[in-house]
Amino acid sequence: MDRKQFLSRSLKATVGTFIAGPLLANAASCNTSAVPDTEASTTEHVPRVASAPLVLAQIALPYGYDALEPSIDAQTMEIHYTKHHAAYVKNVNEAIVAEGVSASDENELLATVSKYSAKVRNNAGGVWNHNFFWQVMGPGGKGAPEGKVLDALNAGFGDFEKFKAAFTDAGMKRFGSGWAWLLEQDGKLVIGSTPNQDNPLMDVSELMGKPVLALDVWEHAYYLKYQNKRNDYVAAWWNVVNWDEVAKRMA
Ligand code: MN
Repeated sequence: MDRKQFLSRSLKATVGTFIAGPLLANAASCNTSAVPDTEASTTEHVPRVASAPLVLAQIALPYGYDALEPSIDAQTMEIHYTKHHAAYVKNVNEAIVAEGVSASDENELLATVSKYSAKVRNNAGGVWNHNFFWQVMGPGGKGAPEGKVLDALNAGFGDFEKFKAAFTDAGMKRFGSGWAWLLEQDGKLVIGSTPNQDNPLMDVSELMGKPVLALDVWEHAYYLKYQNKRNDYVAAWWNVVNWDEVAKRMA
């Protein structure tokens, strides 16, 4: 190889190195689960080919199973992550292949999920929602936000206690399985809920917007420790909200 070829290849290798970081970071923040493949895709958008279906990924849990004790017990966390969440990942990836899903990334899949089966809808939602949920929780929670999140909640809902009451109400009134959400709609903070594994990024959802906080109110999220007492689970959950992550998701 001559000097020019060598420089060209070295440059591509360098670009690949720098791009890998953001791609992995994106996967961790649920923006995409696309598998980084060729170096070509790092410099320009290359349409996904049929031989490389979209793959949705489960993020590594950012803390140990016991890190949210006593609010959320270790056994619930382990089963929730290794059984429920892992099953959504397995099932959606099977369905993506079986149905020839053409979406090129996770957000596009959610935004066009009406085109696909209930299996895709339920399991794609299950993957995204839990990846998001793990990240907006963490050990050492202060129980209440400060700074810009507190300001935004005060402005949107009167004060933090009123916000908490309204969000708790959304979780309590979701009949059966689903999620409570804090989301941004046209720059405004809104509270709502979705059934099953639907989320505000889906074109089929009545509640749409950009999620900044989510609470899983499926019984599998709390039944081992709290049994039928969803209200006790929600009350304890405030202790493990990671407000720094919520702040990152606010505009
Ligand atoms: Mn769940």
